[in-house]
Amino acid sequence: MTRMPIRLLPDEVASQIAAGEVIERPASVVKELIENALDAGASTISVEVAGAGKRLIRVADDGAGIPAAEVELAFARHATSKLASAADLFHITTLGFRGEALASIGSVSQVTLLSRSRDETLGVQIRVEGGEVRRRSAAGAPPGTLVTVENLFYNVPARLKFLKADVTEKRQIDALVSRYALAYPRVRFSLTHDGREAFRSHGNGDLREALAGVFGVEVARQMIEVGDSRPEAGGLRPSAPNVRQSDSSVQRPTPSVQVTGFVTPPTITRGNRREITLFVNGRWVQDQKLTAAVLQAYHSLLMAGKYPMAVLLLRVPPDEMDVNVHPAKSEVRFRDANAAFSAVERAVRSALLAHAPVKSVSPSGDWGDAGWQERRQALMGGNWRTEAAVAPSPIYPRPEPGDLPPSETPNSGLAGDSDPSASALPLPIGSPMPLLRLIGQVGAAYLVAEGPDGLYLIDQHAAHERVLYEEWMAGMTAGALASQALLEAVPVEVPPESARVLEDQLEALGRLGFGVEHFGGNTFLVRRLPALLAHADPAAALRVVVEDFEEDETPLAAQAEARLIARVCKRAAVKAGQVLSAPEQLELVRKLETCRSPRTCPHGRPTMIHLSVATLERQFGRKG
Ligand code: ADP
Ligand code: MG
Repeated sequence: MTRMPIRLLPDEVASQIAAGEVIERPASVVKELIENALDAGASTISVEVAGAGKRLIRVADDGAGIPAAEVELAFARHATSKLASAADLFHITTLGFRGEALASIGSVSQVTLLSRSRDETLGVQIRVEGGEVRRRSAAGAPPGTLVTVENLFYNVPARLKFLKADVTEKRQIDALVSRYALAYPRVRFSLTHDGREAFRSHGNGDLREALAGVFGVEVARQMIEVGDSRPEAGGLRPSAPNVRQSDSSVQRPTPSVQVTGFVTPPTITRGNRREITLFVNGRWVQDQKLTAAVLQAYHSLLMAGKYPMAVLLLRVPPDEMDVNVHPAKSEVRFRDANAAFSAVERAVRSALLAHAPVKSVSPSGDWGDAGWQERRQALMGGNWRTEAAVAPSPIYPRPEPGDLPPSETPNSGLAGDSDPSASALPLPIGSPMPLLRLIGQVGAAYLVAEGPDGLYLIDQHAAHERVLYEEWMAGMTAGALASQALLEAVPVEVPPESARVLEDQLEALGRLGFGVEHFGGNTFLVRRLPALLAHADPAAALRVVVEDFEEDETPLAAQAEARLIARVCKRAAVKAGQVLSAPEQLELVRKLETCRSPRTCPHGRPTMIHLSVATLERQFGRKG
């Protein structure tokens, strides 16, 4: 190709290139117009769409409006009323600040803007086509702004070709409007497609009602509140434009990340992570790391391939993050990304724990805390509990020999060849489970215990699964996973499809304590097993693994690995019907108390049922 001399691109080409970064599809137009309306302090925002947004997008708001003298300027590139100096870039409290949206939209469509400033008596209407102002006239209008975008990409046919089918473009607009309705429960949103109402929110500030509009009444009812979700507390509405927050640096809150919102319980899931919505300071962001933090909070509560639904609103001091990362402003960078990550994980995790299905028949009731402490001291004697509650590590005391039979000793895998502190887990988040006084076993399946607020029935199998699972995870983290060599290698034949996958995973399995070699054909030699399975039949142990592969296309990705471990623990855990000695029962309860997630087994089923004092009193007719 012959070289062309270097030339400045014609304005028109340059602005179309720039526009392409901001306006990719109809939903991007809707996003920018909604953000402008929110920045203008609107309390009602109506979105009207025709032809999936390709033919028409119209957004009306009752915000501050644009002064007549400024309407042309609003369409100029890098013209904004929200930013005055470079320093302001680090205190951004509005959604817009780049002054690019209207210019971009104007250069790739035909736009009519009708606006009246609250401070003026007459409005103004302006028509912009392909970046050129075509008409301008005074016009009567209520305060607020009405932007009509017609024939998007009419002058950029290449773009038009890249748009998806109408249903897809529509769905993106639906998702966008409904998400914004969730982040701004005090703003009334409505959306119509070709004259038919597709979505409406009431704007009464009730986030749960807004959730119902998006996820349906049933899911919304079951969603778990994270943090303090009162909209006042979030203060999500960005400040109105022109009212620059010069004092924002003075009354700076603690530079922590506040997380509020709603998440689904582990029982309500989706097959993808698209329903995890994150807003940072009122701005919808796509952030892989924060999404991962949400998933991390569900760790061991969900099956592989299952994802929760979530709407989380983060508040971060504006100078703790950079929103000027991407032209579409859908990414943010945090000064302290780890703090943001752990704030999200912690908030969601503690909401889940607080909500975990300790099937409380009644929510309240208490033996009375002071009395309980005394009774416990008197009844329990020993001081191991204080130790467990206070010392950060090791919180898993090594079992006394003879406490549990070897095959069922939860720690047997780690004993002998590892440092006891290696199996320590961080202290439980919050207070996941009260310390209990063991009473005994019933039906060779359940343990009965007394807590500060009533009676607990513990499923011994589910509880032991949980204990083994957390010990395994701790051992892995500490690099102290124990495996046991078999006296003789055992050949095991597996189905042909499994054989292929298994072959690829031998190394990964090695990390989990399995020593397996390919022997030829569909036969494998089992040489070592994780200590937990040391007493299991090797063929059955390998089958646990292979079954897991069959269910999962990408075996041993972190989640699948966790699931596999959960299955192994399920196999190794004490079964219902197994009589436990008193020390064994005590050991189990004690270990469960130190778990991070004691209230569910690794598969998400409850480990315990709680009968509160109040329930007992009611049942016995002691109280109304
Ligand atoms: P930005 O939002 O980044 O400032 P835009 O191109 O989206 O850039 O808008 C340019 C300017 O036009 C804004 O700064 C604001 O002053 C004004 N404006 C745009 N839309 C509205 C609206 N709906 N209500 C009031 N003012 C608006
Ligand atoms: Mg804007």
